[in-house]
Amino acid sequence: MSSVPPASPAPPAEPVVRYERLGPVATVTMNRPRYRNAQNSAMTYALDDALYEASADDGVKVIVLAGAGDHFSAGHDIGTPERDADLPHARRAGMWWDHSREAGAERRLAREAEVYLGMCRRWRELPKPLVASVQGACVAGGLMLAWVCDLIVAAEDAFFADPVVRMGIPGVEYFAHPWVMPPRVAKELLYTGDRMSARRAYEVGMVNRVVPRAELAAETRALAERMAGMPRLGLALAKRAVNQAEDLQGLHSGLDAAFALHHLAHAHNAETAADPLGGMDVRAMKAADGARAVRDS
Ligand code: ZN
Repeated sequence: MSSVPPASPAPPAEPVVRYERLGPVATVTMNRPRYRNAQNSAMTYALDDALYEASADDGVKVIVLAGAGDHFSAGHDIGTPERDADLPHARRAGMWWDHSREAGAERRLAREAEVYLGMCRRWRELPKPLVASVQGACVAGGLMLAWVCDLIVAAEDAFFADPVVRMGIPGVEYFAHPWVMPPRVAKELLYTGDRMSARRAYEVGMVNRVVPRAELAAETRALAERMAGMPRLGLALAKRAVNQAEDLQGLHSGLDAAFALHHLAHAHNAETAADPLGGMDVRAMKAADGARAVRDS
C-alpha cells in the first residue's frame, strides 16, 4: 500500500468562451487570456454557439461581447500551442464545404469563408444588439469581432491595429475598414500598421464611449441595460435599418471584393514564400512590432 494520497481530480478545463446571463443582458466572454484571446477555431465555433444561444433566448434583449484578462483579442491564432486551423470544423448547414478535406487555395478559401467572413457576417446580422467591451489589444482578427458589434465601448487603454499588410495581405478578412472609419484614416491604419488609440477611435466615430479601464464592465453593462429597455422588435428593426443603409453604401459587396483580394494575397504568399502568411508568424510579427517601437522611440 502506498501512503501517497490519491491525486485530486484535475479541475475542469476552462471553456474558451464563457456565457453568462443576468437579467436581459447576456455576456459572451472570450476566455483565452493567456494568449490575449487569440482566436483559434475552437473559440470561433464556441463564440458562434454562444451568440446563437443568446439570440434564441427570449429573455435576452442585448448581448455584450467581451474578452477576459488584459486584452480584448490579439487576433487570429497564428502560433499558440492550441492553434487548430487544420482541424475539421465544417458543421454549419448552408456554410461552405468541409475545408478539412480540401487542399491549397480551395481549403483556405473554404475555411476563411466560413470561420472568418461568414461568421462575422452572420453575427452582424443577429436580430439583437451586440455591444463590444474592449480593453487592451484589439488587433487584426480582434477588430473583426468589435466591428460586427453594433456599439463599442472602449477602455482608455484599448488600441486598435491591423498589421496584416505586413504579411503582404490587404487587411483582415472582414474588410469593414472604410465603413467604420473615414477612408483616409483606414488607409493610414493599413499602410502603417500603427496602433490607433481609444481616443482617436472615438474621434473618428469608430467607438461610442471611452471609459477608464476600471469602469469598463460597469459602463458597458449600464449601456446594455438602457438599450434593453426598448422593445425587442424595435431594436431588431432599427438594427436592420442601419445595417441595410451600410450595405447600400457598399459594405456587403465591398467585403466580397476585399475578401477576394485577401485570398489572392494568401495564394501569392503560398506560391512564393514559406506559407500563406508570407513567413510572418507570431514571432516575426512581434519582432516587427518591436522594431517599430524602437524606431518610434
Ligand atoms: Zn486570411
